[in-house]
Amino acid sequence: MTDKNFDISKRDFVKKCLALSAGVVAMPCHGAMNCIIPEEQELYKKVAMFQEETPRGIMCRICPNECVLKEGEISDCRNRIVRKSKLYTMAYGNPCSANVDPIEKKPLYHFLPGSRAFSIATAGCNLVCLNCQNWAISQTSPDKTRNFNLPPEKVVAESRRNNCLSIAYTYSEPVTFYEYAYETAVIAKESGIKNVFKSNGYINPEPLKKLCAVIDGANIDLKSFNDSTYLKLAGGKLQPVLDALKIYKDMGVWLEITNLIVPTWTDNTDEIGLMCKWLSENGFKDTPLHFSRFYPTYKLEQLPPTPVDLLKTAYRIAIGEGLKYVYIGNVPGNEMADTKCPNCGTTVIARQGYRITANKIKDGRCIKCNTIIEGVWS
Ligand code: SF4
Repeated sequence: MTDKNFDISKRDFVKKCLALSAGVVAMPCHGAMNCIIPEEQELYKKVAMFQEETPRGIMCRICPNECVLKEGEISDCRNRIVRKSKLYTMAYGNPCSANVDPIEKKPLYHFLPGSRAFSIATAGCNLVCLNCQNWAISQTSPDKTRNFNLPPEKVVAESRRNNCLSIAYTYSEPVTFYEYAYETAVIAKESGIKNVFKSNGYINPEPLKKLCAVIDGANIDLKSFNDSTYLKLAGGKLQPVLDALKIYKDMGVWLEITNLIVPTWTDNTDEIGLMCKWLSENGFKDTPLHFSRFYPTYKLEQLPPTPVDLLKTAYRIAIGEGLKYVYIGNVPGNEMADTKCPNCGTTVIARQGYRITANKIKDGRCIKCNTIIEGVWS
């Protein structure tokens, strides 16, 4: 790939941000020189971390799915394979998406506001959400997508060249390209570039703790507070996600949480109340909570968008449970996307879409009443 591929003008940046508001856009390939085309792709790229031999096959211990694979079998996340009795990741250095995003898109509202994040994803995911916005890359394998050749060192170099303060591992599911994300994050950290995860939080404690040592911020989806809904909507379990939230927090990673309210699936206000109560009682009062509006997509195209009144009800429930920073996302022009000082109510950060229109935080405090506003501000 030539360096030219990541020269993004201000105009292109704005255009791309607008396009991305509707979902992921893979970077276009500029000729075969710049891309790995599927036929040329090696089937396996790198020996996988956290693998274990068992009598039934090789087990991957990265996420709670704990796939056990025999020779030649491919994992649930579609990017791991067993060859010669070893598990390999096929998602190393070959992202199918690479973009410069505003950090607000993750969304991370309390993390270097107004900055750029160099955002990458490979194909694959460990869940199967019916409402996935990025199903075209999450529900497939790296050998079926058009990819870039971007080893970790090059991701860091391109991030710097594009004036990005962070690298975001995002769009599909970074837990499943763990090795690539982890090794990139190590190099980025040494170079003074921050690392952020946009993830479903479906990861086992041991790999998560190792990861937390090198990442700075995370936005984790908490999809529902009902175990049965989690299984039917996403193919996962609730408890591992709750456990992961606690680990992120305990290990000092800046954390924000997203709850997408899907009509008929996750719109029960009693359950939303239970979720907020749990967050409040488990040390997450300072953690920003983003209620996000659902738009019909993938296997739930027949559903309507989330009513804005319901999002406002959820907002009030969360504030009532003592959560300090609650937001409504995916609703253009709503003032519940602004950050308010939890003490005096001053709007300390005003936003329009992904753009910051005012920032009244100085040295991490409200300029009016001097109250600490939790976050990573510099
Ligand atoms: S990361 Fe992939 S291979 Fe590993 S357990 Fe999860 S789904 Fe299976």
